[in-house]
Amino acid sequence: MSEKKAFITKAQAEEIVKQYPTPFHLYDEAGIRENARALNKAFSWNKGFREYFAVKATPTPRILQILKEEGCGTDCSSLTELMMSEVCGFTGQEIMFSSNETPAEEYIYAEKLHATINLDDITHIDYLENALGYIPERICCRYNPGGVFQLGDSKEGFQVMDNPGDAKYGMTHEQIIDAYKILLSKGAKEFGIHSFLASNTISNDYYPALARILFELAVELKEKTGAHIKFINLSGGVGVPYRPEQSTNDIAVIGEGVRKAYEEVLVPAGMDDVEIYTELGRFMLAPYGALITTAIHEKHTYKEYIGVDACAANLMRPAIYGAYHHITVLGKEDQPCDHKYDVVGSLCENSDKFAIDRMLPEIERGDILFIHDTGAHGFSMGYNYNGKLRSAEILLKEDGSTEMIRRAETTKDYFATFDFTGLFDDK
Ligand SMILES: *Cc1c(COP(=O)(O)O)cnc(C)c1O
Repeated sequence: MSEKKAFITKAQAEEIVKQYPTPFHLYDEAGIRENARALNKAFSWNKGFREYFAVKATPTPRILQILKEEGCGTDCSSLTELMMSEVCGFTGQEIMFSSNETPAEEYIYAEKLHATINLDDITHIDYLENALGYIPERICCRYNPGGVFQLGDSKEGFQVMDNPGDAKYGMTHEQIIDAYKILLSKGAKEFGIHSFLASNTISNDYYPALARILFELAVELKEKTGAHIKFINLSGGVGVPYRPEQSTNDIAVIGEGVRKAYEEVLVPAGMDDVEIYTELGRFMLAPYGALITTAIHEKHTYKEYIGVDACAANLMRPAIYGAYHHITVLGKEDQPCDHKYDVVGSLCENSDKFAIDRMLPEIERGDILFIHDTGAHGFSMGYNYNGKLRSAEILLKEDGSTEMIRRAETTKDYFATFDFTGLFDDK
């Protein structure tokens, strides 16, 4: 069972909303740092270990800087994510470029930063060589073992990510062996293997099981091609308990499980210098972010509705995946959950519901709601449908003070791609 406790009190929320109107995403710096340290500790047995934070989960420079201070690199999959990494001070091997269906100019930009390029397909070798004029000495290939990958309770995850056999990513077993041979012949010297098999796994067994598959592949690749395998990238996919009845992954147990596979597979093959990388997004940030929103309407029709000032444009996961996000009504933590509500946003889309038939304490207009676990794939999946504006992002610092780390969009931002910007100067 995970403990679903808001990381702020009602009194703190009331102070914060005086300065920053709802809705906004709030991040807990102390929680982010503590979790990053626990991850690094869990893998400290591996000399070259590095977490490359998946920027797409929370593309916010101040968050990236905090993670950089904790020793993380970045995992990028687009031009702007590369640019953001660059301005945040990440360079060279601190940047992983794990993209797919990648335009040539993005490969060129990644190479300019000396990022490590992760190829999603065997045909991308030629594509990359055409784009750059050469193949970089350090290169990674993404592997997809195909078939079905089943592990514990990851039902919700499979909505985000199909089974390997149905997923668009990565090379087949045969292709990755050929890819290594081709890359070697084109001058590559240091190789990595990357794979992402399941998303949001609530299981301490996912990484160890994936690691074993990749370690065995690494031994085979070394034997068949002679390539120097420098690193193995376990990618993302370690999940968080969105629901209170789910258990929390124990990163120390996960790290230990990967170590066991390492010692059983890689060490006997003489490959005891392989570096382990991760590309976690959700695990690094989701629990340390919340969408703070105010109840502004209540409606009694065939059901009981609470209308809030946030909408799916601020947090899309419930609308597109039917994802569960726990809700705490601040100040009513100890009251009985004896009211059944749909908590809804203002989009002209009936899927714009943060909760359906959720048992909650009685909600009054003006109550502040803390929607849990929005720190990853929350703000970042935001959009402008219905002309909605993206919210601000606020950092709750370790000393309890707050800092606005991204301002809310204004109507001027919304209209900035039209050619009548001047009309909105006073708005
Ligand atoms: C999305 C993604 C991640 C992060 O996934 P999480 O589920 O947030 O851990 C890591 N690597 C790649 C290539 C991704 O696309």
